[in-house]
Amino acid sequence: MILDLKAIFLNDGSVLHTDYSFSMAEVKVDGIYPFVSPVKVDITAENRAGLVKLSLATSFNYQRPCDRCGTGVTKAMHYDFEHYLVTSLSGDQNDDYIETPDHTIDLDELLTADILLELPSKFLCSDNCKGLCPKCGANLNETTCNCTTKQIDPRLEVLKQLIE
Ligand SMILES: [Zn+2]
Ligand SMILES: [Zn+2]
Repeated sequence: MILDLKAIFLNDGSVLHTDYSFSMAEVKVDGIYPFVSPVKVDITAENRAGLVKLSLATSFNYQRPCDRCGTGVTKAMHYDFEHYLVTSLSGDQNDDYIETPDHTIDLDELLTADILLELPSKFLCSDNCKGLCPKCGANLNETTCNCTTKQIDPRLEVLKQLIE
């Protein structure tokens, strides 16, 4: 969606609240399409002494295999973003400001970039996922296998490797 903020830019102190949703279904991450729901966005745009503070609250369902055990998981994600919009950047260029000479901004493009930067680099079904047995491949969240009888504390494992 192209958000037109002309009325906000021209009226000091004015505020806009609105919402919309858009699709990231075509966006590929690590070879899969994890955006299984539309991205819902709550928008607040506020004129603050000539610049516009844009606050974006997003929520969407994100589905991909757990990095440890491979089970497909869907998580409800919520990310908030803030941007400062100006009609023209003056002197010292600043990455925190976005130049919007015609008072409009392409929200789909902005949010796609924001969300891709914010996604966790490690995606786990739960923080204490036990993962797969490195020997037999059993999913240790669901079962125990015979290989796990001599379990080594990961900290001791490090020491063991140092000694060997
Ligand atoms: Zn897992
Ligand atoms: Zn095993």
